[in-house]
Amino acid sequence: MDLEFDTRNEQFRREVSAWLDENAPAGRLSPPATAEGLRQHLAWERRLFEAGYAAPGWPRRFGGLGLDLWGETVFDEEYVRRRLPERLNKMALIHGARTVLVHGTEEQQRNWLPGVLDCSDIWCQGFSEPDAGSDLASLRTTGRLDGDEIVLNGQKTWTSNGAIATHMYALVRTDPAAPKHHGISFLVFDLRTPGVEIRPMRQLHGHSGFAEVFFTDVRVPLTSVVGELNDGWRVAQTALRLERGSARGSHTRLVAALDALTEAAARAGADRGLRERVGSLRAWVFAYVRATYALIDTVDRGGDDGVVASVNKLGLSEIQTAIHDLWLEVLGDEAELVDELGPDGELLGLRRDYWHSRAQEIFAGSSEIQRNIIAERGLGLPREVSR
Ligand SMILES: Cc1cc2nc3c(=O)[nH]c(=O)nc-3n(C[C@H](O)[C@H](O)[C@H](O)COP(=O)(O)OP(=O)(O)OC[C@H]3O[C@@H](n4cnc5c(N)ncnc54)[C@H](O)[C@@H]3O)c2cc1C
Repeated sequence: MDLEFDTRNEQFRREVSAWLDENAPAGRLSPPATAEGLRQHLAWERRLFEAGYAAPGWPRRFGGLGLDLWGETVFDEEYVRRRLPERLNKMALIHGARTVLVHGTEEQQRNWLPGVLDCSDIWCQGFSEPDAGSDLASLRTTGRLDGDEIVLNGQKTWTSNGAIATHMYALVRTDPAAPKHHGISFLVFDLRTPGVEIRPMRQLHGHSGFAEVFFTDVRVPLTSVVGELNDGWRVAQTALRLERGSARGSHTRLVAALDALTEAAARAGADRGLRERVGSLRAWVFAYVRATYALIDTVDRGGDDGVVASVNKLGLSEIQTAIHDLWLEVLGDEAELVDELGPDGELLGLRRDYWHSRAQEIFAGSSEIQRNIIAERGLGLPREVSR
């Protein structure tokens, strides 16, 4: 196992660094859920696209640089280190469209992927529903076959970027008579189709790109199905594994958060007890960074079974929460003063990151669910008694 970047990747790091230093937007962009924010984000995405950096890990024939995971990680580390804007199409770039790269037909890939790369299409993920979050296979949105179309009825919830998305990749029940995990299909479709209603929601930290999405007799072509009809559960496992295992610079974000905590602790005149707690978190962060590189190595060699991704996702959630809890403790009352409200009432800085660390324990599968996966699939412990 080799967990170091080779000279080729370090050369790429220098290229990316030079380009980002020269081209990165100065200052903070407005939230993408506002008209001005969306314009600013799209302009930044266009620059990345034109420079070939929209998706460094995608194949060259779809506009990527064809880099392996190590190269992609170099890009992500440099991007995150500079705290550059969150990628508008991250749901597609990291997992949705990548799942189409694995399971889609050549035609689907040619039809959908270019729009993702230049951000003329923005994708969101429609997996969760009321009563179908952790127990995702309980989903009730139906897809009734009608000739060469599928007619959708139902509701999706917790849809990140739903308010600005043009496309959704979703799971729908296409065979209600089949056992729970077998009658589901994975679709990609245009949200501007008649019968789709998007109701935006605001999150605790002020972000308003979240949405609930309702379907009433929405007709999508059968060619929207990725993989085989009724085999969507298997296809979705690829998306979930990519979502959970994709560090995408989160290790770099953790190191930065820890450095800021260390600084705050020093300013507060840390006593021995506090220094020990910060030191212990530093050890956890170090372990997480190495675990990320180990996961990259495993995936790079084709050895990922999804369990390692769950271990990493759980580790990230727990360390991130611990850092932010201690940070608030160190700042005491001052924690209430350090933030300003950003454009459109969005929280900035520590408090925003604090709330985000809470959400991290839930999205892409909650920490309890990751523990179940590790216990049952990884360690072979007895399966949970179904309720
Ligand atoms: C910020 C954010 C963004 C999100 N973005 C998206 C998105 O873009 N698209 C999308 O489809 N979904 C999205 N989600 C939804 C997310 O995937 C679900 O919230 C998550 O899967 C948990 O489901 P739930 O909310 O229904 O909670 P529930 O499943 O009702 O769980 C409630 C609690 O019970 C625990 N629990 C449930 N079952 C078990 C069990 N068997 N064993 C032990 N504990 C259990 C859970 O861990 C949790 O603590 C997002 C969520 C958040 C918070």
